[in-house]
Amino acid sequence: MEIKELEKVEEAGIFGKLAQLGHEQVVFCHDEATGLKAIIGIHNTVLGPALGGTRMWNYATEHEAVTDVLRLSRGMTFKAAISGLNLGGGKAVIIGDAKTMKTEAFLRRFGKFVNSLNGKYITAEDVNMKTADMEYIAMETKHVTGLPESTGGGGDPSPVTAYGAYLGMKAAVKKVYGNDSLTGKKVAVQGVGQVGTHLVEHLVKENAVVYITDISDEKVKSLAQKFGVKTVEMEKIYDLDMDIYAPCALGATLNDNTIPRLKCSVVAGAANNQLKDEVKHGYMLIDRGITYAPDFLINAGGLINVYNEFLGNYNRARVFEQTERIYTTCMNIFALAESEKINTQEAAIKLAEKRIEEVGRVRIPR
Ligand code: NAD
Repeated sequence: MEIKELEKVEEAGIFGKLAQLGHEQVVFCHDEATGLKAIIGIHNTVLGPALGGTRMWNYATEHEAVTDVLRLSRGMTFKAAISGLNLGGGKAVIIGDAKTMKTEAFLRRFGKFVNSLNGKYITAEDVNMKTADMEYIAMETKHVTGLPESTGGGGDPSPVTAYGAYLGMKAAVKKVYGNDSLTGKKVAVQGVGQVGTHLVEHLVKENAVVYITDISDEKVKSLAQKFGVKTVEMEKIYDLDMDIYAPCALGATLNDNTIPRLKCSVVAGAANNQLKDEVKHGYMLIDRGITYAPDFLINAGGLINVYNEFLGNYNRARVFEQTERIYTTCMNIFALAESEKINTQEAAIKLAEKRIEEVGRVRIPR
């Protein structure tokens, strides 16, 4: 099949890119006094307000920031739709150094910009934005979620995310091996941060043979000691003889360089945007006989968590219950991908788009 890679913003132009990816609105926010430069991407609000975290990053170029916000906000649309939530997809990026620029005034100014969208976009935390930052944002807008438990919020979403990723992994194992037991399966977890650590706990409980790696030697050492798991060097993880590769660190680790090296039958992890190119690399995995559990589906636990917080009457047990649906949805996606001869990422997007179309027709906008 012919594989067409998407044009870059620099080539397509901003409106060309919005047309390519199907965005509704992009808001550029600027405040001279605080030095705030932010971009809010609203991809789709057919199912509900566009919810997605704010990422702060020292982007090398403005094009890079635009590309990131467009890609991430589109992913949120599919994540919400496939998880059965009444939410659209959005995301924000702030350009700059999170270590030095995040003052109270800076964060509250950003909150004011979020507020100016009147609830069309709801923000939350993402890379380099913590629950404490959300508290400042919440001083200027009610359209924010992911607040600390002490202020009535849902607290840390990572245990929920890890649980969903674990269930997605089990679904993929069921598809490949005929039963979903992880006992004795060799699982390599890349990145033992907040989500990876909780995932390791689930795996150890089920007697999987777990390998871990991380930039931080300290994290690796302490986790290996705590759970008695094995360790692998960072770059060697792709060459490890394993059954399951679980990316829980960065995006784009499934690419031209890594896929030919993978010796596993399943890829299932929590990292966002694991496929560098969702079409090309999705098919490369099929060619290698590897079953891929779509990232935006199996890492949706965190979104389910903040959505429940946003609705009010937050109930952690209900959040875990909703997250359990990831298993069945995964099985449905594997079946759809097989019957339509498409890759699992495309099948997941297809299912998400179907819900947006069908429910969008009957939903009464609020
Ligand atoms: P985190 O920052 O707590 O953990 C990431 C870990 O990966 C860190 O320990 C870091 O040192 C390590 N790491 C970075 N680069 C690495 C590399 N090249 N090799 C090995 N390790 C590396 O982040 P997190 O909250 O655990 O999230 C992990 C991933 O899951 C991210 O991609 C995030 O976007 C995604 N995700 C997280 C949530 C959530 O609830 N936290 C929800 C959805 C998706």
